[in-house]
Amino acid sequence: MSLAELDPDVAAAMNGELSRQRDTLEMIASENFVPRAVLQAQGSVLTNKYAEGYPGRRYYGGCEYVDVVEDIARDRAKSLFGADFANVQPHSGAQANAAVLMALMNPGDKMLGLDLAHGGHLTHGMRLNFSGKLYEIESYGVSKEDFRIDMDEVRKIALASRPKVICAGWSAYPRTLDFEAFRSIADEVGALLWTDMAHFAGLVAAGEHPSPVPYSDVVSTTVHKTLGGPRSGLILAKQEWAKKLNSAVFPGQQGGPLMHAIAGKAVALKIAGTDEFAERQRRTLSGARLLAERLTGADVEKAGVSVLTGGTDVHLVLVDLRNSQLDGQQAEDLLHQIGITVNRNAVPFDPRPPMVTSGLRIGTPALATRGFGDTEFTEVADIIATALAAGSDADVSALRGRVSALALDFPLYDGLEEWGLM
Ligand code: PLP
Repeated sequence: MSLAELDPDVAAAMNGELSRQRDTLEMIASENFVPRAVLQAQGSVLTNKYAEGYPGRRYYGGCEYVDVVEDIARDRAKSLFGADFANVQPHSGAQANAAVLMALMNPGDKMLGLDLAHGGHLTHGMRLNFSGKLYEIESYGVSKEDFRIDMDEVRKIALASRPKVICAGWSAYPRTLDFEAFRSIADEVGALLWTDMAHFAGLVAAGEHPSPVPYSDVVSTTVHKTLGGPRSGLILAKQEWAKKLNSAVFPGQQGGPLMHAIAGKAVALKIAGTDEFAERQRRTLSGARLLAERLTGADVEKAGVSVLTGGTDVHLVLVDLRNSQLDGQQAEDLLHQIGITVNRNAVPFDPRPPMVTSGLRIGTPALATRGFGDTEFTEVADIIATALAAGSDADVSALRGRVSALALDFPLYDGLEEWGLM
């Protein structure tokens, strides 16, 4: 029985979501559209299989085919990023990070990471997260002057706090990191270097962003952001960490791996090694730069809107609304009304509460996957800039019309219903 026949309520909500994705412009920096091959892998019979353990050493029978899938995924991850070791079992980025910290530290040990309020992730030491509860956390932030991470400041904090692990990586930061400097600070204070490249892994895979792999003891990532694969995580490391990391993932953090997700990861990692993927990452970067340029235009500036650090090196732009009539919530709602999905985001030193914020995080990966190039990104940038400059006076229906025209020009998952997935 099909999903629509068996459960029309769930099917209707899923179809609603498909329409939403098609009719609006997705600019949440951490989202992307997976290719059909990944949808197929994830909606496959591999979801039925228990496979606790690792290829060749499972705790369940009948793993001969899922072993092949996991071996392919591990080999592709290693070769794509030039790593000695890969574990592709983490169900998510947060679980990958939990395993990394479990392998590198003991409860009570000290970690130094980027402050959540300055662009770090929950798993980098937020008070209510496992990382903040299990480990002693020291944070570094961005400078008040230019909103960039100041490596001299990181060094000072590291020297004073002597962490066991230093974490490089972010969820909301528009510039590349200096991995060589992070390595040298880690060496100076006798710390391990863990890089969480969840956001920029796709750019790294394409050679469009410095790689943290040669400098880090361990690198974790999600697979579903710039990398464009299924929602999940993976870990790369120097060989000496292989045993500890494998044991931290299973049995440390997880039971049976999601073999359908691992198949999806394998497919995504294959795609990430292609020229087409590299070209997509270049469009992603170019789109973000065009957006940053437009959002520093005179009309936008007059409305008190600006871009943190004055631009971007990556796939996202952080909009600063501290001097605007709109707060983060209002700006997110306004863009939602015109059909552009973004998320409000605290800016460093934000005077407003976290549920309101004074910023927006706007990313280009999903639209680049949809096929957008410079022409379309220029149009999107102008739509966003016009809306934010006008604030409550924005002509919502005219702007919605421009968004719809772009969405129509770039069909998404064409024929998917007939194809039988929905
Ligand atoms: N690490 C970073 C830097 C992230 O930005 C995120 C997600 O936003 C994660 C880890 C967690 O990933 P997940 O949502 O898959 O647990």
